[in-house]
Amino acid sequence: MATIFSKIAAGEIPSHKVAENEEFYAFLDINPVAVGHTLVIPKAEVDYIFDIDDDKLGRMMAFAKRVARAQEAAIPCKRVGLAVMGLEVPHAHIHLIPITKESDMYFGGKKLTLSQEELADIASRIRKEFK
Ligand code: 5GP
Repeated sequence: MATIFSKIAAGEIPSHKVAENEEFYAFLDINPVAVGHTLVIPKAEVDYIFDIDDDKLGRMMAFAKRVARAQEAAIPCKRVGLAVMGLEVPHAHIHLIPITKESDMYFGGKKLTLSQEELADIASRIRKEFK
């Protein structure tokens, strides 16, 4: 059965898209820990990120770097933090989070409540900066 993230990448489930190429898809996390919190996924299903072969993992990181550059340009922050957990959704994903302080990357706390309009605006700002 397709994962929820496969359905998102295929456009079967809506998402606030940030960037895309043939292999990877980036979109806003539905429960962001900080403004601009983005997930990068491979379009082809794989659960555990360290099961991805070396070359593809390198391309995924290079794609994530381009997304991070766009986030830096679009969202006020000191830098973009990166995390991988994958305990909730069995489809490999990199969290990219614009941060100014360590606690901006705290996953165990209360998530931000942003409207669909706010999320659409954030995604559009990042998308415009994606090179
Ligand atoms: P993890 O698997 O890394 O522990 O967490 C999964 C992440 O995916 C969470 O931050 C969660 O908010 C996000 N997430 C789960 N389901 C959806 C969804 O349907 N849409 C989006 N945009 N994000 C999701």
